[in-house]
Amino acid sequence: MIITMKRGASPEETQRLINSIESQGLEMHLISGTSLNVFGVVGDTTILDEKKIYGFSGVQEVTRIAAPYKLANRIFHPEDTVVEVGGLKIGGHEKIVVIAGPCSVEEEDSLLASAAAVKRAGADMLRGGAYKPRTSPYAFQGRGADGLHTLCNAREQFDMSIVTELMSIEKLDEFLEFGVDMIQIGARSMQNFDLLKAVGRTQTPILLKRGLSNTIEEWLMAAEYIMSEGNENVVLCERGIRTFEKYTRNTLDLSVIPIVKEHSHLPIIIDPSHGTGHRQLVEAMSLAAVAAGADGLIIEAHHDPEAAWSDGAQTVAPEQLQQIIAKGKAIAHVIGRQM
Ligand code: PEP
Ligand code: MN
Repeated sequence: MIITMKRGASPEETQRLINSIESQGLEMHLISGTSLNVFGVVGDTTILDEKKIYGFSGVQEVTRIAAPYKLANRIFHPEDTVVEVGGLKIGGHEKIVVIAGPCSVEEEDSLLASAAAVKRAGADMLRGGAYKPRTSPYAFQGRGADGLHTLCNAREQFDMSIVTELMSIEKLDEFLEFGVDMIQIGARSMQNFDLLKAVGRTQTPILLKRGLSNTIEEWLMAAEYIMSEGNENVVLCERGIRTFEKYTRNTLDLSVIPIVKEHSHLPIIIDPSHGTGHRQLVEAMSLAAVAAGADGLIIEAHHDPEAAWSDGAQTVAPEQLQQIIAKGKAIAHVIGRQM
């Protein structure tokens, strides 16, 4: 809850309000106080009655903030956050980034071929899972440390930063040793609070995917977990949510872009691959995401999609990626951005 005092409110009026709020077990924090005092009320504000607060003389406005997040909240941080990943800037008015690569890190030759192809198509960063969260324990689980090694070789060869998923705390040191440029927290881990806290204690940029069935508020609270441990380098990623619809793998919720931008200062990128599950839908959703104000795209792309070890159906070929980027640039231009 935010309480704004009138410009001419006296110190006595302000103190009476503070006494009343604090006597109820809450804290009043002055968050700006040059010409008028603005207080943030910390604690369980559900017990407060706004009308009663308006009854105190000197009070100008009481705003109930349903949102329980603070560090991720735009109210306390009006300017856009720009997250830097190996020299690449994500967010604000920076260039719209394109992250592309296969779903999983495959054998070295294959990953290098995909990396070369996405680089040629115009991607800024390389993606690929070395540890894969699969629905079936019998499905390919990823190449693990060998996969990270391969990914790092591709990074070096093609001069592209890498993003890859961390599934458990026990592998965090390994990720740090490899110098993974951006750690992805997958949809299934969005509420693994210990994992969020652990990556929050690093300074590595985090790509935080929205959970399959999570609300925007829960997602921003997950970001809050990371940030409250000291790591403010968080980029949000919408990757579709689970609905009753069967034509798509998930329902890609593009309305989150303006909503997140209103409520948070964190950058947001879109994953049209997991968001739809079908490669023929990826272009349209990518362009819509750019038009809606996304700060980037993360697209599953492979030099030979039919041979992809996982998520082939939603994986685009290099020519498609190139076309998406070409059209995306045109749309970005219309909305005053670059891609
Ligand atoms: C992925 O990016 O390959 C992935 C598994 O994503 P998500 O967590 O969104 O399903
Ligand atoms: Mn995938």
